[in-house]
Amino acid sequence: MSSITLFENPNHKNVLLPEFGRGMAVQANQHLIVHGDSGIILDPGGHKVYGKAVAECMAQLGSKKMKYIFFSHQDPDIIAAANGWLMTTDAEAYISALWLRFVPHFGLDELVSHRLKPIPDEGMSLDMDGVKLLLIPAHFLHSEGNFQLYDPVSRILYSGDLGASLGMQYREVTDFTAHLAFMEGFHRRYMVSGLVLKAWARMIRQLDIEMIAPQHGAYFKGKEMCDRFISWLENLECGIDLMLDSYRLPAA
Ligand code: FE
Repeated sequence: MSSITLFENPNHKNVLLPEFGRGMAVQANQHLIVHGDSGIILDPGGHKVYGKAVAECMAQLGSKKMKYIFFSHQDPDIIAAANGWLMTTDAEAYISALWLRFVPHFGLDELVSHRLKPIPDEGMSLDMDGVKLLLIPAHFLHSEGNFQLYDPVSRILYSGDLGASLGMQYREVTDFTAHLAFMEGFHRRYMVSGLVLKAWARMIRQLDIEMIAPQHGAYFKGKEMCDRFISWLENLECGIDLMLDSYRLPAA
């Protein structure tokens, strides 16, 4: 599958890279945003996709520069190739302050480690040639130190693991009810609590959102579809809401 342009104007482009992953590895989306002369890669992925993802990004960027790398959280499908991305670009990489000292365990060269920067718990913005990309707190959804990225130009919310779906063939959700079969199990088990989802929904409704693009599976397009997704999460029981009974010793 080739790359998909999710939004484009003369000075701004949002690209979903082709699916490079194969085999047992969970399907993962890599997103590139280009604004002015700068680019940012979101959740660039592990070693299996690294070579192809770098090549595609460079082709998309042309003479423009990769300015930032964003890691929504610390999972291997996001940060395993962090060293390669830092070696092949001059970009600054951002990850939750909670995970800053864990990433080097994947092998971070001394030469590049100073370009890995912490995101404080309350979030922050990244200036990309005049556009402020928002790094929004989404802790416990699922990781303890977890952020989503909102692009005010395209009005796309990059939601990381929230909204992840697995096993279907399409890349855009058109039938929300049918889509639940591909994302419900994941959210019930990986997302930490309904209380957190309610707080997240309250916060996220303050944004003007045209698209929600997760790190796995299909994206939600249009205000109505996005709203349906947010309302579904707002009322979802998950994680510790469901699992207290599972704290029993297994049979010997
Ligand atoms: Fe994850």
